[in-house]
Amino acid sequence: MKIPKGFRYAGVACGLKPQRRDVALVVSDAPAAAAGVFTANRACAAPVLDARDRVPAEGMRAVVVNSGNANALTGPAGLEDVAAIRAAAAQALGVQKRAVLTASTGVIGVRLPAHKIVEAMPALLEQLGDHADLAAEAIMTTDTRPKMTAREVVLGGKAATLTAICKGSGMIAPQLATVICVVATDAAVTPKLLQEALQRAVSRTFNMVTVDGDMSTNDCVLVLANGLAQNPRIAEPGPDLEVLEAALSDLCGEMARAIAADGEGATKMLEVVVTGAPTEEAARDCARATAGSPLVKAALFGSDPNWGRILATVGARAGTRGWAIDPFQARVTIQGVPVFGGGAPVDFDREALKIRMREPRVDALVELADGDARATAWGCDLSYDYVRINADYASMIVQKPDGMVAKEENVASYSPAFKRTLLAEALKYIAAFSGQVAVIKYGGAAMVKESLKEAFAEDVVLLKRVGLKPVVVHGGAPEVTRALEREGQRSEFVDGLRITDAASLPLIEMVLSGKVNQELVALLNRREAGAVGVSGKDGQLLRAKKLQHESGRDLGQVGEVTEVNKDFLRMLLKSSYIPVISPIGIGEDGGSISINADDVAAAVAAALGAKKLIYLTDVPGILESYPDGQLLRQLSAQDLAQRIAAGAITGGMKYKALAILRALDGGVERVHVLDGRQPHTVIAELFTDRGVGSLVYKQ
Ligand code: ADP
Ligand code: MG
Repeated sequence: MKIPKGFRYAGVACGLKPQRRDVALVVSDAPAAAAGVFTANRACAAPVLDARDRVPAEGMRAVVVNSGNANALTGPAGLEDVAAIRAAAAQALGVQKRAVLTASTGVIGVRLPAHKIVEAMPALLEQLGDHADLAAEAIMTTDTRPKMTAREVVLGGKAATLTAICKGSGMIAPQLATVICVVATDAAVTPKLLQEALQRAVSRTFNMVTVDGDMSTNDCVLVLANGLAQNPRIAEPGPDLEVLEAALSDLCGEMARAIAADGEGATKMLEVVVTGAPTEEAARDCARATAGSPLVKAALFGSDPNWGRILATVGARAGTRGWAIDPFQARVTIQGVPVFGGGAPVDFDREALKIRMREPRVDALVELADGDARATAWGCDLSYDYVRINADYASMIVQKPDGMVAKEENVASYSPAFKRTLLAEALKYIAAFSGQVAVIKYGGAAMVKESLKEAFAEDVVLLKRVGLKPVVVHGGAPEVTRALEREGQRSEFVDGLRITDAASLPLIEMVLSGKVNQELVALLNRREAGAVGVSGKDGQLLRAKKLQHESGRDLGQVGEVTEVNKDFLRMLLKSSYIPVISPIGIGEDGGSISINADDVAAAVAAALGAKKLIYLTDVPGILESYPDGQLLRQLSAQDLAQRIAAGAITGGMKYKALAILRALDGGVERVHVLDGRQPHTVIAELFTDRGVGSLVYKQ
């Protein structure tokens, strides 16, 4: 992304949140004109109290923004914490304290451990560069994606750039500046004109977004303009100011829409346009009220073209605010389809419109006949997840002794109703699975990241405790690749299969059977799982023959399973052991042969007559197309086979899919492909009605 001259960005993790970036620094190398708009909430946060009276101003050099903690409503300590951050940034950058602005977002009412931000200054300083992306990531809260954008303009013959980073998500309502947004530009402009332009831009953009109608304590939009574009300084209204303001509006508009689309729990964005209003104020009020109506939002979630709720909202505003609006004269259009006009409902194809309302963006147009003012507002739907996030979220926040605020992932902290549903659902499944064999192929991120490893081990042990009989088959691709690299060998893959020459096999075997297998067994047995590590050579567990790849290519010592010694496995299961199998088999010549773990898991599951076969991988599941397709939640073996034939499933997933088909053919009832990058997916898939990944069933 283009960054204005003389601006540098950084974003690091300082421990306000566990394991995520949580503090950003934006620096201007030259003194900048600054402007800002702030929340109208009187219960506002300390950084807002601090910054509000210091802009518009000249000579600003830096903005520090943290997420994880709002530094709001914490008493007099709040302003002391702001002062400590300003002092630390000023000292680190060699600028004056008054040249530093701050903003905070996150949990309200918990003292900000400012020392963590102070201690992060060296790391921020070191990182400073064109890292707007890292800064945008560091200011996220419940946002699901970072938000940033840039515009380029010509002012007085000079090219200038504007760049914004922004966060939104919940507690977002109009009538205030909303959200946290930092705009940097190299345009030269006086603070006064910059402030006026910003206020107008915000009134048309951020002030027209509503996610939940709740006014934040922390919202602010700050702009720094350092003049390094060397345009003649804008000091009077005129064409240059108009160009700058238009770019600022455009930039803020894009951020406002991004916020609406990414509202807490949102599945789609709503744009409401009101035209023909008697005044601009009336137009804005009606547009915002419509975008913010809980009934309109709930209808939107259900893709219900419920125009009555739209008209009712407009009529209610006209009645309460006294706008000279006659709703009976209005025309209402949803997704371009007229639904009300001429004082009466219009006939329309409800089913067709419902389908069109499933799109990620829905447009509602209300054409009044009472004047010529217009306004646009943005909002989002109201989903089950909004309530889930906000009902369960607050009770889950816990403060650690060092000031870190983390989410407590503990069922005890969920709302009673949610807990009841969850447990009742889970217990139903537990009863159904008791005594069943479940084969789990373990691989990818779940094998690498420490916290995910622990969560996996917990899940396996839990499965056993509730009466399932887990069998674990592991891959080990990353470890093997690293070991081969250390020996100066590069790995080549065909459909997720590593081409393996006879010379590298001993090393591969040592890594898989010796290292990866033993570590996994130890991880499980720290929880007294009763895990037993076996390779396919132990007890002649896996017999294999050299694999003939469909491409005709010779893959070397890569085999496919021909026979599983199921008596050996049954004996282990009967004695309550958890077999942990490394994917090395016995070849036709009696020597070792490497087998893809997907194939081993499928063959073992079929041999044991397992009800369940679970693949943990590094994608959400089987996707319609890779990488951007939708997740296929449920599909039949036949459907899967057709998708393979159509070429929609390739690479490692193709090999996995073929193994899945073999397993289903061999009698396995259900195969799950799960995202191993999320903790506890195995439990979430098995013990809930709507699983988390893809389920493939026989027919
Ligand atoms: P694993 O470690 O789980 O065996 P692989 O890399 O062998 O992982 O296989 C999964 C990969 O398959 C994905 O990361 C992706 O690159 C690829 N792939 C190809 N098509 C699809 C698809 N339709 N859905 C999901 N993944 C796909
Ligand atoms: Mg693979």
